Formats: sequence, C-alpha cells, structure tokens
Amino acid sequence: MNQMLVDKHVLITGASRGIGRAIAATFAAQGATVYLNGRDESSLKALENELKQLYGDRVHSLAFDVSDAKQVKQGFQALFKLTKTLDVLVNNAGILEHSLVGMVSAEQIQQTFASNSFSVIYTSQYASRLMARNGGGSIINMASIIGCVGSSGDSVYGGSKAAVIGITKSLAKELAATQIRVNAIAPGFIDTQMNESLSVDKQNQTLQSIAMGRKGTPQDVANTALFLASDLAQYVTGQTIGVDGGMLI
Ligand code: NAP
Repeated sequence: MNQMLVDKHVLITGASRGIGRAIAATFAAQGATVYLNGRDESSLKALENELKQLYGDRVHSLAFDVSDAKQVKQGFQALFKLTKTLDVLVNNAGILEHSLVGMVSAEQIQQTFASNSFSVIYTSQYASRLMARNGGGSIINMASIIGCVGSSGDSVYGGSKAAVIGITKSLAKELAATQIRVNAIAPGFIDTQMNESLSVDKQNQTLQSIAMGRKGTPQDVANTALFLASDLAQYVTGQTIGVDGGMLI
C-alpha cells in the first residue's frame, strides 16, 4: 500500500509521549513531514532524533505551551520559518487531574480548560489561515469519552473535553467552505502515562466496561487519526469518532 501522507506537513501537539507520540511516528512512517510539539524540549528532541534515524530530515520539534496564547503565537511564527504550508493539525496535548467537585481549585479549572479547550482555538486560528491559503486541510481534535458521557470526579476534565466537541462542530461549519475539515476523536481507556495515577480498583472497574475486554493502545488512536488526516476522509467533517473498544455503544 502506498504511503498515505506523502508531502503533507503536520503539526502534532503533545507529541512527546503517549497518543501524540504514536500519531507522530505513524504519520512520519506514512511520508508526512512532522512538527512535534510539547513543553519539555529534551523529550521532544529525543523523539526528533529517534524519528530522524528512520525518516531523515522530515522531523522537527517546536517546544511551546499550548495553554498560553502568546506562546502559541510564537510557536506558529517558528513553524512559519520552517514551512509555509500546513496540511494537518492534531490538537492532542491535554492534561487530566481527577478531583471531586468540592476539592477543585480555581487554578485547576483555569489550567485544564486552557490546556484542553482554549488551546484548540488558539492553534486553529493560526493553522486555519495557513491551510486556507493552500486550498484546505484537516484539523483533528482529541476529545474524550468523558466529554461525551461524563465521569464522577472529572467535572473539570469532562467539561473541557465536551468543549472540544463543541469547538469541533462550530469550526467544521465555519471552515468547510475553505475545504478545511475539522473532526474529533473520543478515546476511551488508552494505555498511557495519563492513566497511571488511577488506582488498580478503578482500572479494573474501567476494564469491565470495555466490551472488547482490553485497554486501547496509542496505536489504536493513531490509526483513526491517520484516516482523518488522509484523503480517505475527504468528505468527513464535524464528526466525533469514538476509539473505545465498545465502551460507548
Ligand atoms: P500523556 O501521555 O499524558 O501525554 C500528554 C502529552 O501532552 C505530552 O506529550 C505532554 O508533554 C503534552 N502536553 C500537556 N500539556 C501541554 C501543554 N500545555 N502544551 C504542550 N504540550 C502539552 O497523555 P495521553 O494519554 O497520550 O493523552 C493525549 C490526549 O488524549 C489528551 O488530550 C487526553 O486528554 C486525550 N485522551 C486520553 C485518554 C487516555 O485514556 N489516555 C482518553 C481520552 C482522551 P509535556 O508534558 O512535555 O508538555
């Protein structure tokens, strides 16, 4: 099978580990030029070097904090020095802090919404301009099953991910005329560092709710992102695709 993303330029936020890392590796293997984002410069550089060994110079890292509008602007200025085209933006960066509502702090609300929701608008503003100039593109936003059905102890995170779905639908309507597609992925329970803090009891309880009987892998999510990034999805926009092994049917 031919590579699916040859000549495509892709920015992936939160690429240094977990789901974002799998997306970056998958997209690079499919011929894309990838721009890796995260806050920690050293882990981004390590991934950049690893992928460069396999795919050559088609790999760049851009460290910035997506929750900070000023840093996003500077990040896109740096991106613009590297490329004048952007075909795909994957808004994957996110944080999760479980907390019963009575224990939630104002800082937690602010930081979670800034990282998970506001960031999607900040990056989409710059990315959509670049994409529109080049005849279109694909924006993929990482939502969550918790943004669809909720979860006790996750009112802040759940709200921030429900917002991602709302942003996705409005942007899809707004940007369709410029041939920019905007879709969301709602992963279920994926085996990454994000879930390491869950107690064994909570992990077992969650596993019981997965019809397919296993946790998802970052690769499961990356494969769906690949579809949405590619021309196979050229008539798909405004959708939220669950990748959850049947947790939500
Ligand atoms: P993860 O392993 O914790 O990785 C998160 C990534 O985001 C890291 O690369 C992190 O790098 C980056 N990041 C966090 N805050 C950032 C910021 N402000 N600016 C730039 N980069 C930032 O998480 P994951 O499980 O792969 O999750 C990826 C996405 O999928 C998230 O949006 C998450 O909410 C969503 N999701 C995950 C699951 C799951 O079960 N794992 C389920 C549903 C949805 P630095 O810390 O170096 O910045």
